[in-house]
Amino acid sequence: PPTAKIIDGKAIAQTIRKEIAAEVRPGLAVVIVGSRRDSQSYVATKRKACAEVGIQSFDVDLPEDVSEADVIQKVHDLNSNPGELVQLPLPKHINEENVLSEISIQKDVDGFHPLNIGKLAMKGRQPLFLPCTPKGCLELLSRSGITIKGKKAAVVGRSNIVGLPVSLLLMKEDATVTVVHSRTTNPETIIREADIVIAAAGQAMMIKGDWIKPGAAVIDVGTNAVDDPSRKSGYRLVGDVDFQEALKVAGWLTPVPGGVGPMTVAMLLKNTLEGAKRQLTQ
Ligand code: NDP
Repeated sequence: PPTAKIIDGKAIAQTIRKEIAAEVRPGLAVVIVGSRRDSQSYVATKRKACAEVGIQSFDVDLPEDVSEADVIQKVHDLNSNPGELVQLPLPKHINEENVLSEISIQKDVDGFHPLNIGKLAMKGRQPLFLPCTPKGCLELLSRSGITIKGKKAAVVGRSNIVGLPVSLLLMKEDATVTVVHSRTTNPETIIREADIVIAAAGQAMMIKGDWIKPGAAVIDVGTNAVDDPSRKSGYRLVGDVDFQEALKVAGWLTPVPGGVGPMTVAMLLKNTLEGAKRQLTQ
């Protein structure tokens, strides 16, 4: 009887092709916990954007009641992927910091690992990844020919994902930065002095036209839903800046939607590509 084992060239070739694809095409693993509608829609946008530029992405859906330990286990499993992110916010019973700290800093395409943020904050250090929205804001400024060095910047908001990192990034780029938050008295006096305003408070149209220094560059991160019976959805999105008023005063202004939002996704793709390239050359 024949004893030879058949060598399945087709199967082996297929494995090799997969190995090659994983190396030449940057990949992104997206962990999503629960079924928040907004998170699902952000993840769908990210997936579509990846597909359009040829990045392989896959989602790992975990149920709302998953334990923190199980999320962390998943994060560990996925650390072998070229890029990895955990969609925020997480359900209340899961500690975000514990989870984000377990992402490999080499794969942390969202740039939220405390070490990456820490390096962003320190002089002479460079994080491996910059958070996407702040990076997008800076990219909008630089691609519009706006100088940051030596300018006065006001950042409205101090959250871990936007306000804080964007203020650190502006400081790294040699701006003089003032951070305005919910306890700031007279925010308008600070904003009026700024050559660059980054609005990330999540307060619909709080920044009025006469708060803006004539000619200033205004980047509106705020994305707020306000009632609008004239729309089929019943709402529309507005920024933190009163767009119509600011239009008459600012030198540069980003619309909402259509300003920072698309940049956030583009920066995620950029981070994923940069991470994959770094992995190949290491
Ligand atoms: P958070 O709610 O986490 O943070 C809001 C920050 O704004 C806080 O630091 C808060 O101060 C401050 N703040 C709140 N009210 C005021 C006020 N009246 N005056 C001054 N400061 C105030 O929000 P995020 O940072 O996550 O998001 C901010 C906005 O950006 C939201 O509208 C969000 O939807 C949008 N966003 C858009 C993205 C995009 O890609 N376009 C991405 C991420 C966010 P305190 O610290 O004192 O509470």
